[in-house]
Amino acid sequence: MRISDSAGTTDSGRKRRRNEDAFVLDPPLFAVADGMGGAQAGEVASRLAAAAFREFHEADELEPEERVAAIIQEANHRIYERARSDAQVSGMGTTITAALLSDSGVAIGHVGDSRAYRLRQGTLEQLTEDHSLVADLVRSGRLSPDEADTHPQRSVITRALGTDPEVDVDTFTVPAEPGDVFLLCSDGLTTMVGDEEIVETIGKASTLEQATKALVKAANRAGGEDNITVVLFSLSVEAGGLEDTAVAPADTRGEPDLEDTLTGLEAARVASPAAVLEREEETTAVWGPVDDDVEPVPQRRPRRNWGRRLIWALVALTFAVAVVAAALWAMSRANFIGADEEGNVVVYQGLPWELGGGIDLYRPHYVSRLQATQLTEAERAELFDHSLTSYDEARARLGRYEAEGVP
Ligand code: CA
Repeated sequence: MRISDSAGTTDSGRKRRRNEDAFVLDPPLFAVADGMGGAQAGEVASRLAAAAFREFHEADELEPEERVAAIIQEANHRIYERARSDAQVSGMGTTITAALLSDSGVAIGHVGDSRAYRLRQGTLEQLTEDHSLVADLVRSGRLSPDEADTHPQRSVITRALGTDPEVDVDTFTVPAEPGDVFLLCSDGLTTMVGDEEIVETIGKASTLEQATKALVKAANRAGGEDNITVVLFSLSVEAGGLEDTAVAPADTRGEPDLEDTLTGLEAARVASPAAVLEREEETTAVWGPVDDDVEPVPQRRPRRNWGRRLIWALVALTFAVAVVAAALWAMSRANFIGADEEGNVVVYQGLPWELGGGIDLYRPHYVSRLQATQLTEAERAELFDHSLTSYDEARARLGRYEAEGVP
């Protein structure tokens, strides 16, 4: 098996000034890193991680999974040491999701909430498990996957490179076959673009380079709330080794290079051959729900007299005022414990919901120096349970952990 095509793109998105993501495109080794930390610290962390992948060759002779884990430990070590010695970047960290093709499949190494996927015959399969607050809450049954998608703390990760001298790395190997396309990406793609659209977008592109650009475009079209990074690689049979390979693609008419490239993509293709042309039009079109076929149904409303209408309007208005007043009262009294985008544990005043359009029903009341990553999974489950308490009670609950965790 060999890599027939690969490409990577990163983009700052539409809301962030800086791009704290980085990627590695060094076939057969690939990685995506999503940095975090104030000022420029996130950029420093993700770039240090990427540099470790380029520069660290002491593990080249190891088995694939061990090799990936060793590079990630090296990256962790570099970031941790830098964060300790340079006050400007203290507290920085980064995710890492790496893939290495070998004879036995694709070895994955993973920390944080960037993701690896395998696209096989039109089906996208998520290979990594997020190390994030909302993923913990989903696993413990406190949140549904749908609620997790819009949860205010969805970007808080519970494992990162750079926060501790050693890091717990998930490693595993997935089987690979000719025609597979592997995707590594930061959460700026997956929070904006659904699985179906990812499959469709890759299927429509004629090269992986085009596919990465189209995916970034799709994330930006959906709002581009975060930095977006996409790495893709596709697999084909070894050149000249067709007869040895049990699982040969159906279409093998010679011209190995070009043909192999197309085969990889065509396995995932869901659109017609004219799709490449259509794509150009689609990307410039206004994006929104299309329901041309739905005729508005004319509605006849029964007539009511004005007196009854007025009474109903007053009842509705009174009810609405009461609901708003109750919500405001609850918001002024309620506090809950969560974490902010930098990973600090925070006591929030209000309710743990956002209304969409950037309207939150909560505001930070107290930001602790305690980091979410310093807590165990059980401790996080206990603290971040979203139960509403008084401010004093929330501080008291948090105080027990601060006494142990904050240096
Ligand atoms: Ca991100």
